Amino acid sequence: MKIIRNAVVTLKYEIFDGEGNAVERAGEPLVYLHGGHGGMFPRVEAELEGKAPADRIRVRLAPEDAFGPRDPELVRREPRSKFPGKIRVGMQFEGEMRHGDHAHPVVFRVVKLAEHEVTLDANHPLAGQPIEFRATVLDVRPASPEEIAHGHAHGPGGHHH
Ligand code: ZN
Repeated sequence: MKIIRNAVVTLKYEIFDGEGNAVERAGEPLVYLHGGHGGMFPRVEAELEGKAPADRIRVRLAPEDAFGPRDPELVRREPRSKFPGKIRVGMQFEGEMRHGDHAHPVVFRVVKLAEHEVTLDANHPLAGQPIEFRATVLDVRPASPEEIAHGHAHGPGGHHH
């Protein structure tokens, strides 16, 4: 079948950064519920509308259509003494961000190391960057009423409750 609203779509995909380097190579297929349910970038959904298995797409996305702008508030500098043991660029730590009276968990990456200071960044690595999204449609099937009610795909590659 062709991709229409409330179809469950399986894609093989790759993401390239603004310089054409592959930053996410085809691994596990991605399964999402098509039709504005928030499971896929809206501009990619627009390009996929009406496509069928074996069709391919390539979409260039501005940062605001992809992983959003970089948020300078998500960058933190901490004294190195707060981090016992070995530390290197690329390591990840769980932390939390406060929004008024509540906090939610975020993952900070170490982006810079100085003698006495560690710079941590909780932005998505591709925030603030244009990307190119390339995908091949592997499968299209109608969603179950339950999937439509939940707003996401179930089963292998989709959501597990
Ligand atoms: Zn569900």
